[in-house]
Amino acid sequence: MAGLLAARVASEFYDSVTVVDRDRLPDHPAHRSGVPQDRHLHNFLTRGTTILGELFPGLLDELVAAGAVRIDNPNLSGRYARIGRFEMNRTGKLADPRALASYGASRPFVEFHVRQRVDRLGNVAFLAHHEAAGPVHDRGVVTGARITNRHNKLTQILHADLVIDATGRAARTAEFLAGHGFGSVPDKRLDPAWGYCSQLLRIPPGRIADKLVFVNQGRAAPGLLLVAYEHDTWMLAIARHGDCGAPPADFPTMLAIAEQALPPAIMAGLRDATPAGDVAVSRDTGALWHRYDRMARFPAGLVVIGDGLCRLNPLHGQGMTMAALQALALRDCLQDRGADLPHRFFRAAATQIAPVWAANAANDRPAPAGRPHPIRHRLSRWAADAVGTAAARDIAVTERFLRVRNLIDPPARLRDPVLLARIALANLRGPGFAS
Ligand SMILES: Cc1cc2nc3c(=O)[nH]c(=O)nc-3n(C[C@H](O)[C@H](O)[C@H](O)COP(=O)(O)OP(=O)(O)OC[C@H]3O[C@@H](n4cnc5c(N)ncnc54)[C@H](O)[C@@H]3O)c2cc1C
Repeated sequence: MAGLLAARVASEFYDSVTVVDRDRLPDHPAHRSGVPQDRHLHNFLTRGTTILGELFPGLLDELVAAGAVRIDNPNLSGRYARIGRFEMNRTGKLADPRALASYGASRPFVEFHVRQRVDRLGNVAFLAHHEAAGPVHDRGVVTGARITNRHNKLTQILHADLVIDATGRAARTAEFLAGHGFGSVPDKRLDPAWGYCSQLLRIPPGRIADKLVFVNQGRAAPGLLLVAYEHDTWMLAIARHGDCGAPPADFPTMLAIAEQALPPAIMAGLRDATPAGDVAVSRDTGALWHRYDRMARFPAGLVVIGDGLCRLNPLHGQGMTMAALQALALRDCLQDRGADLPHRFFRAAATQIAPVWAANAANDRPAPAGRPHPIRHRLSRWAADAVGTAAARDIAVTERFLRVRNLIDPPARLRDPVLLARIALANLRGPGFAS
């Protein structure tokens, strides 16, 4: 996804752009071995879909015409969210419903449509079934990439003014830099130690009114996400913290967990679901940020984008949106035409990643062994509770919360004085409840 969006942006500045992928690229929405995570629930945050619409005018309508599920009601009907014991207010009118419009569709479906749009750009070519074996480098400048045809094993050099490493979790640029005298790459890590599972389902039309269902019960009980996808398919995902056992690996167990967490109306529809394929299970929720922005030396002619630069805990569903934000940052940097593109890009990307990383760390960091969380952490938990209480009662708070969660507004916007007053007022009416 990062590679497709980067290609779209690069096509504005270079005569020709080549997208190299190790997989054969299917001519219809289909799973690929190069993207093993595509069997898991994928959902763009709304900031991400807005960027898709900016980069590819008309794409969002095209997705809907092809079967994606759009939710853009003037209030929050069609969505059910519960955080702890707080259910989101769904009755009041949103000030800006378009910003929160969401599009439910599987990862292979969205990726296929984006790829088609990139393919239609006059100066972008795809080189499928080719393995990128690493950059080619001459005296501090990357001048191309070595690529191997996976069919006949022949290797050639693809010369380029700019190489964009968008190979995701498989990215090897850090090793390349260390092996070519640029030094080791400082990195940041978080290991939230969750496991989760995803099951694709078929549910007869009209059985569930809410198309986006989200339940977060903290660390002690499973989290749950249910999203309506194209052509009456749905994806159910359940996350469980490692301290509470392994994630379920079969649909009946997932259903039993859902019974404990979902309202009866949603559960009634879910009981009519037929599983499509096997449950996908993952225990890899670790986050890793390569701080290329902090390196003293970095070769010209090379940038890294997407998960290869920073992979986040997938449970937060931010990766594709971060890739889209980085594509825009790359466009800005290319537009400036200043010197040292890599450093300018990595600095711009770091500005986007840092607040998201900090918010995730606050959520994901475990308590120090044998001791309670530090006071700062407990205060932020208390503040989150106060926001939850207010969000259950006041649509303005709910909307701001969702805007922050969907990366439209920075987390600091939750501390706006007017909003704080509304949060205080809502909390004066007593502790929160689930309606
Ligand atoms: C289980 C899971 C669930 C997730 N859920 C969500 C979600 O709900 N919402 C969300 O926004 N994000 C989610 N993500 C994150 C999301 O998948 C990524 O952040 C997003 O796809 C951007 O990654 P990318 O483009 O950098 O890499 P990828 O999407 O992984 O793509 C990497 C590409 O590089 C190719 N490739 C790899 N190595 C080579 C090579 N040597 N040569 C040639 N080609 C190569 C692969 O074939 C592939 O096409 C999830 C991630 C995981 C693991």
